Amino acid sequence: MRQSYIAVLAMALLLLLSGCNEAPQGAQQHHLQGSTMGTYYSVKFYTDTPPVLAELQQQLDKELELINDLMSTYRPDSELMRFNALTSTEPQQLSAQTTEVVTEAIRIGQQTAGILDITVGPLVELWGFGAAGRIERAPTAEQIDAITPYVGIDKLQLTGAGLSKLDPRVALDLSTIAKGYGVDRLADILLSHGISQFLVDIGGDMRIGAAKPDGHWRLAIEKPISSGRAVQRILNLEHISLATSGDYRNYFEQDGVRFSHLIDPRTAQPIQHRTVSSTVLHPNAMTADAYATTLNVMAADEALAFAEQHGIAVLIIEKTADGFVERISSAFSPFIIEH
Ligand code: ADP
Ligand code: MG
Repeated sequence: MRQSYIAVLAMALLLLLSGCNEAPQGAQQHHLQGSTMGTYYSVKFYTDTPPVLAELQQQLDKELELINDLMSTYRPDSELMRFNALTSTEPQQLSAQTTEVVTEAIRIGQQTAGILDITVGPLVELWGFGAAGRIERAPTAEQIDAITPYVGIDKLQLTGAGLSKLDPRVALDLSTIAKGYGVDRLADILLSHGISQFLVDIGGDMRIGAAKPDGHWRLAIEKPISSGRAVQRILNLEHISLATSGDYRNYFEQDGVRFSHLIDPRTAQPIQHRTVSSTVLHPNAMTADAYATTLNVMAADEALAFAEQHGIAVLIIEKTADGFVERISSAFSPFIIEH
């Protein structure tokens, strides 16, 4: 669902500050990891009564397989790709899981007047950030104009009867939200085993459960400098999710045009502003994931105004003439413990 550079993003921006792993009262730290959605997953948890780890891992892998079978754009026979291939405009009943994800994506899409847009896939392809791969030069206005008639969440209709395309060419891309959804489902599996002290991470989108036996989960957000690494912010977290969109290490411009995998549906072009990344905290990972992308598609001023209006906790890193600048919404500040 995501290209492999996402793993780089997560490592570049976020660092789990592993304090003391020797927890009191016999609770041991366990770590399971694997790969999914074009990136890694990592599940850390504490419990003094662990389930059989091999069985737990199998359960996690099975859940991730199911989500990929439903929502991946890299599996031609996924539920999503079969929906995309349909030319019918009749309502289609989709699985409960895909319907839940589409419902949340449409909610945020409507809240932002279409800035989060799960029908943007054909434009992502045209700009060379889809499965078909990179392009040498920007597409022409004619090529863009040929696609825009079937891009926009107003081309979708979700009712009790199912999801309909209002234009047969509409195609869905859930890349920006499915990873967060996967994080939430893995967290549910841990909770079903009575495990509450956990950190679930899929490619940098995370859900943090109850505090560890030795205190809060601490995450560092790295200061964006091009050489070396320096800690920017330390966050103290419990019962919250965190998602980051964007990566300054992948920022690139060509002939004064910024190329990005994020498309601003208002212009049908990659974002052109100087936001490098946005990191959102929200109770569930699916919503954090979607808002992180949304607030990265918006320019920083607009994103911060939106975050203040809706009480969203976001940290934005912007590239300016004086270097990288960090901007924080008021809901984000309480999570920061060191400067
Ligand atoms: P990031 O973590 O950088 O936000 P994601 O994979 O979560 O990356 O989301 C980016 C993906 O979402 C893109 O690769 C593209 O497939 C899709 N996308 C691009 N622009 C938009 C948009 N405006 N709304 C929804 N999805 C988008
Ligand atoms: Mg995202």
